[in-house]
Amino acid sequence: MKIWLDGELRDAEGARVSVFDHGLTVGDGVFETIKAERGRAFALTRHLERLATSARGLGLPEPDLDEVRRGCTAVLDANPMPLGRLRITYTGGVSPLGSDRGEAGPTLVVAVSATSRRPDTTAAVTVPWTRNERGALAGLKSTSYGENVVALARAREQGASEALFANTTGALCEGTGSNVFVVLDGELHTPPLAAGCLAGITRALTVAWAGAKETDLPLDVLESAEEIFLTSTLRDVQAVTRIDGRQLADEPGPVTAEAMRIFDRESAADFDPR
Ligand code: PLP
Repeated sequence: MKIWLDGELRDAEGARVSVFDHGLTVGDGVFETIKAERGRAFALTRHLERLATSARGLGLPEPDLDEVRRGCTAVLDANPMPLGRLRITYTGGVSPLGSDRGEAGPTLVVAVSATSRRPDTTAAVTVPWTRNERGALAGLKSTSYGENVVALARAREQGASEALFANTTGALCEGTGSNVFVVLDGELHTPPLAAGCLAGITRALTVAWAGAKETDLPLDVLESAEEIFLTSTLRDVQAVTRIDGRQLADEPGPVTAEAMRIFDRESAADFDPR
């Protein structure tokens, strides 16, 4: 396995990042997860732009997106696989304990791992913790993902693959690694970015391609929604057929099935949509 570390392709086995990397010690970093099919990264430009936005939000040095793109291409070329999960990690760099963010410059790692297509349906649960829509990290894809790790573990304990958060006002927000859509009276809705969710790339494409209203919704809308689905880079559009123990259906409902069809069709036609 080859990875990209600070400007070079290296063997993953021998590649080393400092134990004093600020990303490791305090989660001072940002990341992207990108789907790659047969060596081509999906919506790469959008992902690179979001990486830069997240970096700016954390006050990290502006990433050199040409280098990041080179790293992605090199890693994909060096590790051929049918379906891959490309991961870019960009951190504050080496910073001895007790000092501020490193002055040696940021750390950039690009790696890929083989993955498989997600099932069309899944179960989700709500969790008692909230996303802070007014927090410094709201909407940033930062490596401070501990809260998501805890929530996802809670979901797994209940046989679900995703946990959904409300924000501090009690509004539906997002999952640990996905955006959420609901069908109400036959109409498709998703929380607005102001609710504190990540500007998901699959979310944006689904809003554009399938049409969805961006609507503030209370978390308990999940109790009555006719259909619910998740979007993310690795899930694409995935139907939630069980929520908190409520079985909605055995298979994707009509609006969800249509969103899936549209997403598959449009993403195949335009593999790197802007
Ligand atoms: N929300 C969070 C917190 C995420 O980590 C992700 C996944 O990356 C998403 C939403 C979905 O975003 P995307 O569609 O860009 O993968």
